[in-house]
Amino acid sequence: MPKSTLRFLVITYLFVAAVLGASLGYAGAAGALGRSMSGPFLALFIFAVCFALALLWAWLGAILYVFYDSRARGMDVTLWVLVVAFVPYLIGFVIYFVTRKPLLQSCRACGKDAPREAVHCPHCGAPLKRTCPSCKATAEPEFGFCAACGANLNP
Ligand SMILES: [Zn+2]
Ligand SMILES: [Zn+2]
Repeated sequence: MPKSTLRFLVITYLFVAAVLGASLGYAGAAGALGRSMSGPFLALFIFAVCFALALLWAWLGAILYVFYDSRARGMDVTLWVLVVAFVPYLIGFVIYFVTRKPLLQSCRACGKDAPREAVHCPHCGAPLKRTCPSCKATAEPEFGFCAACGANLNP
């Protein structure tokens, strides 16, 4: 997920929490002062509205997350957004986490997406992994040292 989206979600949740807290505080104060007989009912009503809003934001947040995450993993974005949006109680969100594909990596040669575990790019055939010159074990391109024998991969 891009950092800007994450920041947007965090700010939105903080805003909702602030509104929730302020509303409850106001309702509680109004009730305590006894200015209105409807105080407790007003507080209950405001709480219900805020609770519904919080649920709505959780739902929208889950949809946004799945939209970006499924795209980054090369999955069917439309299908998963619909599943998360319409399967009740966020069960679709849970199913998404259980079944999602591993993250993609981008090929250094052609720039297209390849599965994380791919050894060669499925689009241009360029090698996506390195082999240790000392023990021939497979190494990720970002490794500085071999994970199997500790040899320096960038001498
Ligand atoms: Zn490639
Ligand atoms: Zn090695």
